[in-house]
Amino acid sequence: MNEQLNRAPCGYFVMNDAFRMIEANESFASLVKREHFELLDLNFQQLLTVASRVYFQTYFEPIMNIQGKVRELYLTLKVDGKSLPVLMSANAYGNTYECVVMEMSVRSEYETEMITARKNAEKVLQDTDEAYTSLLGVMNEHEQRKQELIRLNAELNELAITDNLTHLKNRRFFEDRLSYLLDLYEKEGVPFSICLIDVDEFKRFNDTFGHLAGDFVLKELAKIMESHIRNDDLVSRFGGEEFIILLPSVGVDVAIDVIERLRMAVEDHDWIDRQVTISCGLTECIIGDDHESILRRVDDALYRSKENGRNRVTLHRDDEQP
Ligand code: GH3
Ligand code: MG
Ligand code: MG
Repeated sequence: MNEQLNRAPCGYFVMNDAFRMIEANESFASLVKREHFELLDLNFQQLLTVASRVYFQTYFEPIMNIQGKVRELYLTLKVDGKSLPVLMSANAYGNTYECVVMEMSVRSEYETEMITARKNAEKVLQDTDEAYTSLLGVMNEHEQRKQELIRLNAELNELAITDNLTHLKNRRFFEDRLSYLLDLYEKEGVPFSICLIDVDEFKRFNDTFGHLAGDFVLKELAKIMESHIRNDDLVSRFGGEEFIILLPSVGVDVAIDVIERLRMAVEDHDWIDRQVTISCGLTECIIGDDHESILRRVDDALYRSKENGRNRVTLHRDDEQP
């Protein structure tokens, strides 16, 4: 054999149509780790792994018969009990096949690495996808909880400023609004009036008709009061059978008509055979007023309504005591 072909950087051999090797170069002998003489007359298939042998028998001859050549056949040689992937190309020449074999181990390792890397990347992608989906779920849940909390907070706030029985605003809310109006009066001189209302002889009413009937009266009164005030006015339950109304932007000259109409509406209401009346004390904000002073005046006015026979509105004048 030509010296150059003998040490070419690929395995070269010739086999007959029964796949017995007739010629082989040194490179092939060293690739399969055999002595040159051992290869001669050896059936090439004996150098293949079982799986590769089946593959070779299935494809080599049929392709050779059709095309007269075989290109890039991936085979696995068995060398020293280990697998050695190779790439084989062959040409038919008379009754023989001239074959070239290239070692593939580097490419095979590279491919294995690529496949592993791809699988890892796919796994990372899938994990990321799953993590993202579950993160979205957590965020969604968090948002729902937050909304629920906001709703519950608003509900709690509303409960904290609402009277249970009448659903009017409670005393706490009233105190805040009074502070605001006192402030506005002091800074900008915006007037406001305040009216304290007490149900007449309510103890007797309860004693006669029962506490539940009394509760019903308080609820009815709340509705009547709300229907007689403007949107800006505030009616709240001051405590027990007492209510308080704040009328922003108006002095007593206007407020007295509103409260008088309210008193008459209560008197004229259809209480089903039972008379219910209210007594009212009315005043307006004056210079130097604070919570205590304005409430003292309005309470005094109410007291005089009671003293003078109940079911009436008494206006506290500036020049009066206290
Ligand atoms: P006056 O005309 O002087 O105001 O007489 P009065 O009986 O209304 O006054 P008093 O302060 O002696 O009694 C107030 C009554 O109001 C006593 C209490 O049982 C009743 N009352 C207070 N809060 C409620 C309530 O939430 N429901 C009911 N049913 N009654 C209440
Ligand atoms: Mg009272
Ligand atoms: Mg009363």
